[in-house]
Amino acid sequence: MADRRPSYIGYCDQHGKRLYPSRKLARRQLRAHRDSQGMRAYPCPLVAGHWHIGHLPKDVREGRITAPEIYRGQR
Ligand SMILES: [Zn+2]
Repeated sequence: MADRRPSYIGYCDQHGKRLYPSRKLARRQLRAHRDSQGMRAYPCPLVAGHWHIGHLPKDVREGRITAPEIYRGQR
């Protein structure tokens, strides 16, 4: 059985994603993902000092735009 102990503190209202209280915890979750390729930890632009993990959009992976630019534009 997987260890289901949550390391996140809740959900971000704006993004609906899990909030991790540190980059270290977010990155630990990334490593736990079997398929974490293309995923990264990134700081939530709205909750200072907290982190999300997620897939990078194709445009970010290919260097056309940075993740903060995308997420800032999301409503
Ligand atoms: Zn957020």
